[in-house]
Amino acid sequence: MTVYQPPGTPGSIVAYRSRYDHWIGGGWAPPVRGEYFGNPTPVTGEVFTEVARGTAEDIEAALDAAHAAAPAWGRTSAAERAQVLLRIADRMEAHLEQLAVAESWENGKPVRETLAADLPLAVDHLRYFAGALRAQEGSLSQLDEDTVAYHFHEPLGVVGQIIPWNFPILMAIWKLAPALAAGNAVVLKPAEQTPASVLLLAELTADLVPPGVLNVVTGFGEEAGAPLAASKRVRKLAFTGETGTGRLIARAAADNLIPATLELGGKSPNLFFADVAADDDAFYDKAVEGFAMFALNQGEVCTCPSRALIESPVYERLLGDGLGRVRAMRQGDPLDTETQVGAQASAEQLKKILSYFEIGQAEGAKVLVGGERADLGGPLAGGYYVTPTVFEGVNSMRVFQEEIFGPVVSVTRFDGFDEAVALANDTQYGLGAGVWTRNINTAHRAGRAIQAGRVWTNCYHAYPAHAAFGGYKNSGIGRENHKALLEHYQQTKNLLVSYSPDAVGFF
Ligand code: NAD
Repeated sequence: MTVYQPPGTPGSIVAYRSRYDHWIGGGWAPPVRGEYFGNPTPVTGEVFTEVARGTAEDIEAALDAAHAAAPAWGRTSAAERAQVLLRIADRMEAHLEQLAVAESWENGKPVRETLAADLPLAVDHLRYFAGALRAQEGSLSQLDEDTVAYHFHEPLGVVGQIIPWNFPILMAIWKLAPALAAGNAVVLKPAEQTPASVLLLAELTADLVPPGVLNVVTGFGEEAGAPLAASKRVRKLAFTGETGTGRLIARAAADNLIPATLELGGKSPNLFFADVAADDDAFYDKAVEGFAMFALNQGEVCTCPSRALIESPVYERLLGDGLGRVRAMRQGDPLDTETQVGAQASAEQLKKILSYFEIGQAEGAKVLVGGERADLGGPLAGGYYVTPTVFEGVNSMRVFQEEIFGPVVSVTRFDGFDEAVALANDTQYGLGAGVWTRNINTAHRAGRAIQAGRVWTNCYHAYPAHAAFGGYKNSGIGRENHKALLEHYQQTKNLLVSYSPDAVGFF
């Protein structure tokens, strides 16, 4: 067991600046209007650093830097860019503990997760796209005896990326790795709740990335995000966040006739078929853990399995064992490696989750466990903690239909395959889903019938770089991860060449 020291105290491995400017053109750039805002840690609720409050002027400065850098960066060879990505990955790995603690401090998530999952995954995404780029080939088609068509992958130029607060570094790397690999320069706007982690990363890798290739402008959505989204100087937008904000981004992209990939909200179903309890074995135990996965990252995951659908014959048993697993969760100091459930990312998020506790009870959902703010006392008393919560009710309730983005699962029962799929699909969203069964036919049939971009079968919350990820319905447009994403950041150049001496013959 290790308890990391809070940043700013003796013995801490993380040192923040007291104030952060934007990261533009490979160095610090003060905000044009000179304004900053306080960044509190969810661990204690105290402000630990100030961050530049960006506006349209800062976005323009970042776009200037990106446009200056893009042509040379775009002309580098695939091998050179792959090297840059690999070096960033190595540098992150060498500072993994430091970045993991910083991410936990800024977001409130347990350091156990940032050490074992978030940071190693981010490192692997960089390595994956470095490899995918090297393996990508253009193509040549022989059209007839005298004519050939070549296809080249060219970068788009300058792209804009806007990310949320739930995985500050991982969300940044999901977007940066393919964009940089493809040869684009980037202006990235992190969430106002978690801007510092990305700035630490930019500073840590400053000598590895040519100036202007990666620019970070911090600030609020309407002040800094909107001008980036509306800019006529970006060739693509990539966004992760709420469905409502995604609509605004899509409108801005439509106005400028540029592509946008949107990773939006979810209300993911987790289906447990009766056969999971056929034996009291390791598989059943894994399924019970699968039920508890809603609390991972305090439920602040777009794919949080926030609706558990359990087949009637095993409903009482699986739910009972699941509740036992929930009651046993260790909630506490996110910087303690024993902690399983930490703090919510912001005071607003805490307020939103508490409001859903009231909404659920008012509409008749039954609280089986949790349903309140957790007061952890001492220095954590001001932190943003809620107890993992299980509601029981019916799928039409708001707690089954609306994204809470907290450690909250709403549970109901189903009878038979058809009802399971109907309930699973009875949602505006379609991002993730889980299917738990020992029957391979049920697994395949359910996996294909559920309208979601990612269906986990007998597992949950795995995010490998080489598996495509993205939403159906209101959960988004486009996919992330997987080598196919490289093409989202490229445009295809076709050279059509004739070496025939004969006239074309029209005029
Ligand atoms: P949000 O939409 O409020 O904010 C996301 C980002 O957009 C932030 O950087 C914010 O500053 C910016 N933004 C806000 N308003 C904007 C505007 N008008 N113009 C431009 N930018 C603007 O979302 P959030 O609350 O930070 O994040 C939580 C949401 O993200 C949840 O709905 C969750 O499901 C979703 N999410 C989705 C995925 C996925 O891959 N599908 C992954 C993580 C989170």
